[in-house]
Amino acid sequence: MPAAYDPNNIFAKILRGELPCHKVYEDERVLAFLDIMPRAPGHTLVIPKTPARNIFDISPDDYAHVARVAQKIATAAMKAFQADGITVAQFNERAGGQVVFHLHMHVMPRRDSVELLPPGTRQEDVKVLEDNATKLIAALG
Ligand code: AMP
Repeated sequence: MPAAYDPNNIFAKILRGELPCHKVYEDERVLAFLDIMPRAPGHTLVIPKTPARNIFDISPDDYAHVARVAQKIATAAMKAFQADGITVAQFNERAGGQVVFHLHMHVMPRRDSVELLPPGTRQEDVKVLEDNATKLIAALG
């Protein structure tokens, strides 16, 4: 049985405006922002506003909306980052690779023959994150 939702996780703090983020998209049900330790340029996270730990406690409807927005971001990221493909990933519980316990979908732009960096490799420069957020917002229209 997975643990209960912890309202002090880092993404809950971002949602409450207690921590900053490089926002690229928001609607009434989700927020999307750049990963600060990107595994590829333009690596974006899509999170529900509802307090869900992971796939096990989110409603199918909220999960579907996160996926819908991840698809929208993926399409825009192909253009914004001249990508050759996109990897979408969503990890559940520690054994499933989850580190932050508020559900999130990773949208990672890929280039032919370029491997993803390992998770947590390095914190990206703020200027690069700002530039990438601007490009993605423009591609989202
Ligand atoms: P996961 O393994 O799916 O739980 O991944 C958590 C992700 O959150 C990692 O890719 C981290 O680089 C990313 N991350 C952690 N803290 C922040 C933050 N403050 N802002 C943006 N991304 C973050």
